[in-house]
Amino acid sequence: MECKKAIRLINRFLDDDLDTEELQDFIEHVESCEECNEELTIAFLVREGVARLENGNVFDLKKELDLTMNKANHSLKLREGMQWLYYVIIGLIVVGIAFVILILIFL
Ligand SMILES: [Zn+2]
Repeated sequence: MECKKAIRLINRFLDDDLDTEELQDFIEHVESCEECNEELTIAFLVREGVARLENGNVFDLKKELDLTMNKANHSLKLREGMQWLYYVIIGLIVVGIAFVILILIFL
């Protein structure tokens, strides 16, 4: 992913609004690109900082960003797992249909 695209996705990332592929590319890029990581940190600090100031609840935001990244990584793994399960189910359905066709042919 290019920096330009990663930066465009930051807000949607913070809204938890990326699809699996985007999320994967985004995380990969941000974890390896210092510039975009900084952009993300700033966007996160601004967004969360304002929310916190409003309810007077200012924590260690950098730590929370790490937490957000961990959560995103976790949800990505979960989604990949779901995708894997989806392929298994499709595979089983195909095998099942093939099996039924074979039975019909040999009966
Ligand atoms: Zn970048």
